[in-house]
Amino acid sequence: MTRGIVTLLGLAVAWAVLLLAPADARAQGWSAGTAGRPLATCIRRAAPDEDPRRVARNLAAFDCVTPHKQFGSGDFWVISEPVGERARSRRPLNARMLSLWQDRVTLHVIYADGRVATMSDDAVGLTKRIQLGAIVEYPIPRHTAPVDRLLWKIEGSSNLYAVVRNLRIATDAQSNRANLFMAALYAAFAGLCIALLTYNLALWTTLRYRFQLAYAAMVAALMAYAFTSSGALAWLVPDIPNTLRLRLNYLLLTTTAASAIWFARSFFEEHVFGPRLRLLIRVSIGALLAAGCGFALFAPYAPLIAHTLYNWVFVSMLVPITAIVLSAWCNRSNFLWLFGLAWAAPIVAGCLRVLAGLGVLPWSFWLDNSTLMSMAAEALLSSIAITYRIRLLSQERDAAVAAETVARRLADLDPLTGLLNRRAFLGQAIGRSGTQTLLILDLDRFKQVNDTIGHDGGDEVLRTVARTLRGLVPASAMIARIGGEEFAVLSTPAEPVDPDRILARLRATRMPFDLRVTASIGSADGPLENERDWKALYRAADRALFDAKAAGRDRAKLSAVAA
Ligand code: GH3
Ligand code: MG
Ligand code: MG
Repeated sequence: MTRGIVTLLGLAVAWAVLLLAPADARAQGWSAGTAGRPLATCIRRAAPDEDPRRVARNLAAFDCVTPHKQFGSGDFWVISEPVGERARSRRPLNARMLSLWQDRVTLHVIYADGRVATMSDDAVGLTKRIQLGAIVEYPIPRHTAPVDRLLWKIEGSSNLYAVVRNLRIATDAQSNRANLFMAALYAAFAGLCIALLTYNLALWTTLRYRFQLAYAAMVAALMAYAFTSSGALAWLVPDIPNTLRLRLNYLLLTTTAASAIWFARSFFEEHVFGPRLRLLIRVSIGALLAAGCGFALFAPYAPLIAHTLYNWVFVSMLVPITAIVLSAWCNRSNFLWLFGLAWAAPIVAGCLRVLAGLGVLPWSFWLDNSTLMSMAAEALLSSIAITYRIRLLSQERDAAVAAETVARRLADLDPLTGLLNRRAFLGQAIGRSGTQTLLILDLDRFKQVNDTIGHDGGDEVLRTVARTLRGLVPASAMIARIGGEEFAVLSTPAEPVDPDRILARLRATRMPFDLRVTASIGSADGPLENERDWKALYRAADRALFDAKAAGRDRAKLSAVAA
């Protein structure tokens, strides 16, 4: 039942990611997070000290066909197509584009009357323009003449995806709506992460399973990644360079990925992991962390190489995950179906990203945010997987506790008669409060019994005696076999045991081979608070027993004093 629901949920998420990505790319205009009308751009390399007006006039020098990416990294001029009708409206306009790796961005707004308004930002200035969703937004200054085109000078672009990406012109209302949508999206995401983190850590404090910690690390890293990648960090620390924010981003994303693999490693049963898989996992986690640190350290020197390497290391994360899934399948893991489900969304998203990277699929808003969303789906479904895993573990634990209880009870019993053995009897008897009555019953001439009917026959006699005793004494009394043919009965004055009744019943009990079996009993009263009391009580009862034997056997004697 739950399995069915979880399966459906996982498939729904995976399909949502799969279907929404290309659908959004097809739908132009306003869509979640990307407000406004897209503007096409043309590009050319920049030389030092060029005059923006002259650059804008010489449109023939721009390339409007070749994708930006093919120009490599460096400094560029990017000019938009004419902004058009919107520019003539009375409403304030904003230019929005995705935040990318850039050292300095200068926007020249070119108006129809030839005037130019310039806004120039270094990496710190760019941070201040960041909106939720990591979108850089420029309010376009209003002027009597409408806006003709937007001209960017971008310095130090890594150009991994584009020099200017996802450029849109949006009214204030559209910008606000997009920002609100992103705020809702990230707030929901943060809420989800905090809830998952809190309850898993709370459970961890009592259950202490390693996979709970790995999971918490993954969710925490994911949340921190969302914080930096969304641009929320830019609001909290407006003075950090945008490039530093991006470096942090990559570091946190690789940490998330590494902890996700660690989670997979600790989630499955130990038999899933052979030595080679364990090595692969260690190498992958190491490579991811190294790539994250490497990128954070070296991106400023060779951004394009660092980005490319980083991307490939990230895609290579699918290798250990696939290997774990395969091994879990071959080794018949109980948790594969849940794990597979949880990872369906990130795996599908990863594949789509690769396809988009190769140009097979168009890039889209959803694809751009797919890491976050698919990892959120993964975190949520993993949490359900953890619940299931804990349920199975607690069932195993209950079964183990039950087995241990049975084993302990068996260890307390005398295997021949099923009565308590001497050790268990002492353990339970010593410490009882109030006066106790100890009876020691020893079978008479038992050696002869053995000699007459054999050892097995003797055993049967012992079992019969035990049964007789059990049928006679009150439930509150304890009976034990404390020696070969010696039994002890411990009772209280409130529910006394009559030794003569025991002897009478034994005489009347039918024994194997119709043998006549009698016993002698010595009894004593006294406290039984501690070991010393026990020794005194036993000695007294034993002395009484000796007297009974000496007096001719088949009788009971009460000890005069219990000390
Ligand atoms: P009494 O107590 O009347 O003086 O004589 P007894 O013959 O009972 O004396 P003793 O204590 O010397 O002998 C006890 C015998 O009980 C010796 C041993 O062979 C026998 N015995 C002890 N444990 C077992 C057992 O588990 N099974 C059988 N069949 N015999 C046992
Ligand atoms: Mg004996
Ligand atoms: Mg005996």
